[in-house]
Amino acid sequence: MSILLAAVLLSGCSDESPDSAAATKADSSTQLAAEVAVEREPVAPAILSPGVGSIPSLPPPAPESAAGMSPDASSASAPPPELATPPVAPGPAEVQLPAPSPTKMAPPAALPMLSIIIDDVGHSRAAGERIIALPAPVALAIMPFTRNAQALATLAAEAGKPVMLHLPMENLAGLSMGEGGLSTQMSRTVFDAQLQASLNAFTPIQGVNNHMGSKLTADRERMDWLMTQLAARQLFFVDSRTNKETQAAFAAQASGVANVSRDVFLDNLRTPVELEREFKLVLARARKQGAAVLIGHPYPETLAFLEQQLPGLEAREGVQLVSVQALLTRPH
Ligand SMILES: [Zn+2]
Repeated sequence: MSILLAAVLLSGCSDESPDSAAATKADSSTQLAAEVAVEREPVAPAILSPGVGSIPSLPPPAPESAAGMSPDASSASAPPPELATPPVAPGPAEVQLPAPSPTKMAPPAALPMLSIIIDDVGHSRAAGERIIALPAPVALAIMPFTRNAQALATLAAEAGKPVMLHLPMENLAGLSMGEGGLSTQMSRTVFDAQLQASLNAFTPIQGVNNHMGSKLTADRERMDWLMTQLAARQLFFVDSRTNKETQAAFAAQASGVANVSRDVFLDNLRTPVELEREFKLVLARARKQGAAVLIGHPYPETLAFLEQQLPGLEAREGVQLVSVQALLTRPH
């Protein structure tokens, strides 16, 4: 562990859960570090131009889903309609100013919404239990075939926390995907069989997001194969957006799969300053868009940061913590 940590610290990349088996530790550590490196690459473009795709007729996924869900700032600050009408000349008020119907009253302005997903769960039971204990509906994105996948899925479901399958997908760097990985070289038969095995690896599963996947998510044909299976199981999809050319949200829309896209990665860098910076960034995006999705990983630094930040967040920041299901765009 100390050697791994030293290597990670030296490389500036990431470690993984502390209690993984030694045999899988090096693998997982390398994969997670590599994933973060891969995932980090598109952060800036994803933030600057979320949802850029090759289909110009479709609006960007993230802003689209967010914009449709909550009022913008101007509507939140606009006076209620009944106050906008100036008083009329004195007279029998009950004749000239009938009481407004309650159904015409403006509803209270909704708070901006923030949803948090923790990826790469399943190796460490202790880390998973810390996520479940967070005072918010934080989703556990659990990797298939990991040692604690089923135990953590059961505990999370019992606690009312969202449970997702964190599905390994091929990346542009050629890094190992681990067990259950889906690649662009697979025939549909092989792809479907592998996908079904992962979807059956633990239960319950409410939705899916991609582990790595900077290559596979840009493959529209295979994204269509994936979404066909998710639609059949009525699962939602969260696009982690590890490639700005991702086709996942478009494929989800086409197949009728409820979906939303990641806005910010919390912990590509795990210093207190960087964690704080990314967290403030996602809060700002939630306020601007009405809603935002934050993805983190089960690093000790990330969990400690969330344990410190989430209690009292709504009162302190005016941002409401919601489950990822609350932010889904539901295709017609
Ligand atoms: Zn991942």
